Amino acid sequence: MSDTNPSVAADADGTTDAAQDVSIAVEDLTKVYDGDVLAVDGISFDVAAGDFCVIIGPSGCGKSTTLRSMVGDLSPTSGRIYVDGVDVTETPTYKRDIGLVFQDFQLFPHLTVRENVEYGLERVGAPPAERDEKVEDVLELMKLESLADSPSDELSAGQKQRVALARSLVLEPNVLLLDEPLGDLDYKLQKRLERELLDIHHQVETTFVYVTHDQRQAMRLADQIVVMNDGHVEQSAPSDEIYNHPATAFVATFVGDSNVFTGELTDVVEPGVARMDTPFGTFDVSAENLYSDPEELLGETLPFAVRPQFLRVDETAPNTVDCAVEDVIHQPGKGTKLILEATDADGEPKQLELTTHDTYDSLDERVVAGWDPADTILLERISVTDSVDLERDLLGE
Ligand code: ADP
Repeated sequence: MSDTNPSVAADADGTTDAAQDVSIAVEDLTKVYDGDVLAVDGISFDVAAGDFCVIIGPSGCGKSTTLRSMVGDLSPTSGRIYVDGVDVTETPTYKRDIGLVFQDFQLFPHLTVRENVEYGLERVGAPPAERDEKVEDVLELMKLESLADSPSDELSAGQKQRVALARSLVLEPNVLLLDEPLGDLDYKLQKRLERELLDIHHQVETTFVYVTHDQRQAMRLADQIVVMNDGHVEQSAPSDEIYNHPATAFVATFVGDSNVFTGELTDVVEPGVARMDTPFGTFDVSAENLYSDPEELLGETLPFAVRPQFLRVDETAPNTVDCAVEDVIHQPGKGTKLILEATDADGEPKQLELTTHDTYDSLDERVVAGWDPADTILLERISVTDSVDLERDLLGE
């Protein structure tokens, strides 16, 4: 399995082997609330220095518990947290070299922008001259100079985000944790603030760790994504690896849209290409995403996914399935999304999604959807937990 979270071994002095490159590391973290709620179950992942890491997963999977353990306002039941190679598990929050931006930004409404930004420096006892210099620098970086004397309760949401970031970044933390900061905003504003956030991230050397349940936001922001489920890490990897080589069916369906088939692996037709017998036909699929040698899986039933952009209307494609057009959704600038319905030998329907630049008007039209073996992702594991059922939980069938 491409488990990209080798746990970080601590040396006697509390530093980790990969200390130069790893900004924050979570090692074997477990949190049990009230003696019986297992919120996080022995998870490990590292975040490389300077990366933008997004932790995602469904509600209740343990994201906040993980974040709060990193911040230090929650004591883990077991496990360690390292910042820049130093074990901070027992270190109070204010000494962890970590900044935090909350969901609603939590500015002091009665203070001006400058006073909000200066507040943390005062608390750590920075001398006035140093305070002034750092505040001016960060106000300039965040393009907040002209608003420096404005009361923070008169700012727009975008300006509030910049002040919240300025307030944390002025302390020059090694890591900035962001707890769903764009959660409650409308979509257009969210996308604008995401761009600003990325711009700011590019200008500073701070590692960002961002928690959200929104996988689309994760794909837009992240260098690295940690996908959590039921207190476990399903996969921690660069975002394109998560998308192209999901470790489990849970990841393939949670991150990005997928058309998922299930079939029996009946043959290995050439090296790296498996033949799958499904109720919708026989398809040749890439075995690249498997952990095992495909020969060892002969006779096994496995799911596989095809991303909508790789399905095309093409009866000459190596893999084809006959479909009825159920819906046509025009996406200006992005082509047209076709919602298709394929029917298996027993008359059971399956919905498929395909993106095309051709025009389809008639909903009664029939099309042949096709794809290449290389664009198929075989999914040997459903989830890292036993609690996930493919049909019931992932495909809603
Ligand atoms: P997420 O942020 O992914 O929604 P959380 O970390 O908040 O998940 O919660 C993980 C699990 O721990 C859930 O089952 C939740 O009900 C439980 N939980 C969270 N906080 C507490 C608490 N203070 N006391 C008891 N159970 C909690």
